[in-house]
Amino acid sequence: MAAIAIAGAGLAGRLFAWALARAGHRVDVFDAAAGPDPAFDAQDAAAFSAAGMLSPLAEQEQGGDEIAALGWRSLALWPGIVAALPRPVPLQAEGSLLLSHRADLGAAQRSLMRMPGAEALDVDALRRHEPMLAPGLRGWLLPREGLIAPLPAMAALHAGAGATRWHWSRAIDQVLPGTLHFRDGGHWSGDWAIDTRGLGARPPLPLRGVRGEIVTLSLPAHGLRRPVRLLHPRHRVYLVPRARDEIVVGASEIESEDRSPVSLRSAVELMAAAQSVLPALSEARITRLDRHLRPAMPDNLPFTHHEPGLLRLNGLYRHGWLLAPALVERLLAEAALARIDDIAHSTHRDDPSGFVALETSR
Ligand SMILES: Cc1cc2nc3c(=O)[nH]c(=O)nc-3n(C[C@H](O)[C@H](O)[C@H](O)COP(=O)(O)OP(=O)(O)OC[C@H]3O[C@@H](n4cnc5c(N)ncnc54)[C@H](O)[C@@H]3O)c2cc1C
Repeated sequence: MAAIAIAGAGLAGRLFAWALARAGHRVDVFDAAAGPDPAFDAQDAAAFSAAGMLSPLAEQEQGGDEIAALGWRSLALWPGIVAALPRPVPLQAEGSLLLSHRADLGAAQRSLMRMPGAEALDVDALRRHEPMLAPGLRGWLLPREGLIAPLPAMAALHAGAGATRWHWSRAIDQVLPGTLHFRDGGHWSGDWAIDTRGLGARPPLPLRGVRGEIVTLSLPAHGLRRPVRLLHPRHRVYLVPRARDEIVVGASEIESEDRSPVSLRSAVELMAAAQSVLPALSEARITRLDRHLRPAMPDNLPFTHHEPGLLRLNGLYRHGWLLAPALVERLLAEAALARIDDIAHSTHRDDPSGFVALETSR
């Protein structure tokens, strides 16, 4: 059993804590936030603001083969992780749809060339998959892509991390092998230190924040069954069903560290694009406008570091939910601290597959 401290209780920190505590280690987690729940103030974990798309094919277009391979590995791991958590976490892997208006077909075709595996759907097949979509759209199925609900997942990882001790309002200034230095003085020392502070890890990491804005809408029986992404010359807009009566529309991608509230321009553009795909959204109610900064390295690729007594995971950028399980698995194996496969297979709940249906209308 090792004594391990984790700096940062966001997505990566909670996954590490869950895996390490279940592997029998003594785990302390320190976070600058006041508590485990979201504040939606763009200062808490970026993970709370995410849409939760698990899209290796779509992300391959920009991220390349490594991102796609890590994404497929995470998609294989999530069901076992979710099945081992003490609370249900909506998780789905029934594919996602790419959509294009006829006028944007040229741009769509260019994107599709970088997405091997996308299957063109004819009008009838598209209607069978998603009956509520606007007429006249062209569609492609990205098989096996999925989505996870970030808020229940963050809560369940926190609840499922066994004897982990959580320390809130504890900002960490420096993470060194076997040592954390607190901003208000003092330090922790033990066997391993793990740095998962997202943007809070600079220096030493040369991170930047990429602003993302996202809208939550309420509409009873909206009818959307799976995530859909609109191929568009200017925007990468996606609609994600969260429940029978809730859809999330995201996300802007702006090279800025502005944490101020959502701009009118982004809100209008996101919602207009979404309504052009799903006309019933005209009557939806806006329940949240949220924004956060995605922690990104200069090359936009994930950053991992392993030396005796120290692990770092960062730069999860726009695909933390897609990549984190595979990267946590890899780092824990390199450090010989835990095997996620072993931990994930022991289930608390009845459904061994781990897939928990979203409450979307059928
Ligand atoms: C609008 C939006 C939409 C997104 N959609 C998706 C999506 O659909 N799919 C997907 O895969 N990804 C998505 N992402 C990306 C994903 O949210 C991030 O990649 C992920 O949250 C990064 O995880 P992390 O643990 O590294 O950082 P975070 O989740 O940001 O956690 C960092 C933690 O460190 C703490 N911290 C910071 N500084 C300190 C300090 N000095 N001391 C102690 N604690 C500190 C913070 O309080 C926080 O709890 C989206 C992001 C945004 C903003």
